[in-house]
Amino acid sequence: MAFDVAAIRQQFPILSREVDGKPLVYLDNAATTQKPQCVIDAIVDYYTQCNSNVHRGAHRLADEATQRYEGARDIIAGFINAAAREEVIWTSGTTEAINIVAHGLGQLLKAGDEVVVTEMEHHANLVTWQQACKQSGAILRVAPITELGELDLQAFESLLSSQTKMVAFPHVSNSLGTINPVKQLTAKAKAVGAWVLVDGAQGIAHGAVDVQDLGCDFYAFSGHKVFGPTGIGVLWGKASLLAEWPVWQTGGEMISEVSYQDARWNVLPYRLEAGTPHIAGAIGLGEAIRWFSQLDLEAVADHERALIQRATELAEAFEGLTIVGNAPDKTGVLSFVMNEGHPADIGFLLDRQGIAIRTGHHCAEPLMNRLGVPGTARASFSIYNTLDEVEALFEGLKKVRMMLA
Ligand code: PLP
Repeated sequence: MAFDVAAIRQQFPILSREVDGKPLVYLDNAATTQKPQCVIDAIVDYYTQCNSNVHRGAHRLADEATQRYEGARDIIAGFINAAAREEVIWTSGTTEAINIVAHGLGQLLKAGDEVVVTEMEHHANLVTWQQACKQSGAILRVAPITELGELDLQAFESLLSSQTKMVAFPHVSNSLGTINPVKQLTAKAKAVGAWVLVDGAQGIAHGAVDVQDLGCDFYAFSGHKVFGPTGIGVLWGKASLLAEWPVWQTGGEMISEVSYQDARWNVLPYRLEAGTPHIAGAIGLGEAIRWFSQLDLEAVADHERALIQRATELAEAFEGLTIVGNAPDKTGVLSFVMNEGHPADIGFLLDRQGIAIRTGHHCAEPLMNRLGVPGTARASFSIYNTLDEVEALFEGLKKVRMMLA
C-alpha cells in the first residue's frame, strides 16, 4: 500500500494551524512529535467517561479505568515484543526510565567497576551514569565517535572488559541522527558479561522495535516522541532483572505488605511503579502505539528516508552550510551550522517564516564540545512531513542567509 502522507497529516489537527499567517512547517520532531486526533480523543474519553484511580477501586469507573490502563500496557508489550507484560514499567519518560536503572546500578556497583557510554549521549544517558559512578567509585568510559558521527566500533570494543558492568548507548542519536547497530553493540557487551541499556528515545518512532531480538537488558523511551502525550514513558527490562533491581521510589502501589517497621515489595511491574500513575498518559500512549503500529512501518521508514535524502542533497548544495553528522545510516535528523550566523539566529529567523526547528546543544553539551561547535540548528522530520516542507526549509534558509549577510 502506498504511503499516503496527506491522509496521515489530516489526522494531526495542529498541522493545519498557521504561525503569523504562514502555514506551520513543523520540523522539531526529535524534540517532540505532534499527536493524532485519536490520541487526543483517548485522553478526553478517559477523563469524560471513566476518570478514576486504578487497581484499588470497588466501582465501575475504577474497573474501566484499570482495564484501559492495563490494556495500554499490553499494547506496548506487544509492540516491542516483550516476553511478558510485567516487563513494561510505566515511567514519566526516558529520563526517569534511565534513572531507575542507574539509581539501582549505583547500589550494585563497587569501586573499580566500569560503565561504558558513548560520545553521542543525550544528557539523560550520561549524567545518570556519571552520578552512579561517582557515588560508587566506578569508572565511566566514553566510547568515541568518528568524524562522520558514527560510533567507532573498534574503540568501543577496546573499552569492554570483565570490569564492564553496564553498557548504555542510544538507539539513535538525537543530535546527529546516527542509527547505532544495536544488536552488534549488545552482542559485544554481552560477550564480557555486561548489562546493556538502550536509550530508545529517538529509536521508537522510526520503525518496529523487538527488544528480544535486540538482545539488550533494558530499553527506555518516552511517549511524546512517538505521537503520545508528555509525562509518560516506558522502561522495558528483562523480568529476571527487574524483579531483583533495587526499588526506585517507595510508597503506595509498590508494596505487598507494610508494618510500622518494615515493608515487602510488590511483584512486577508494580514494584517499580510507586504512587498513583499517569493513567491518562498511559492510555494516550497505548492509543499512540496502537495507531502507529497499524501503519506500514516499512513505508514509514522509506518516507522518512526520502525526506532526509532530499534534505541532505539540498544542504550539500547550500553555500556556507555544513552538515553535522553524516553517518550513512541516519534517521530524519539534519543538524547543521552556517557560516553567516549562530544557530539561535537561524532558528529565530526561520520561526518568523512559520518554520519550527530546534537550535542549541540538544542536551548533548559534551558532544557539541567534542565537535567544536557552540550548538547546531536541527531540522528533524517525522511521518507527516512532506518533500514540500523540506523545500520550504531551504527557501527559508536562503532568506535567513540574506538577512544575516
Ligand atoms: N535520550 C534521547 C536520545 C533523547 O533525544 C531524549 C529527549 O530528547 C531523551 C533521552 C530524554 O527524553 P525525555 O526528556 O522525554 O525524558
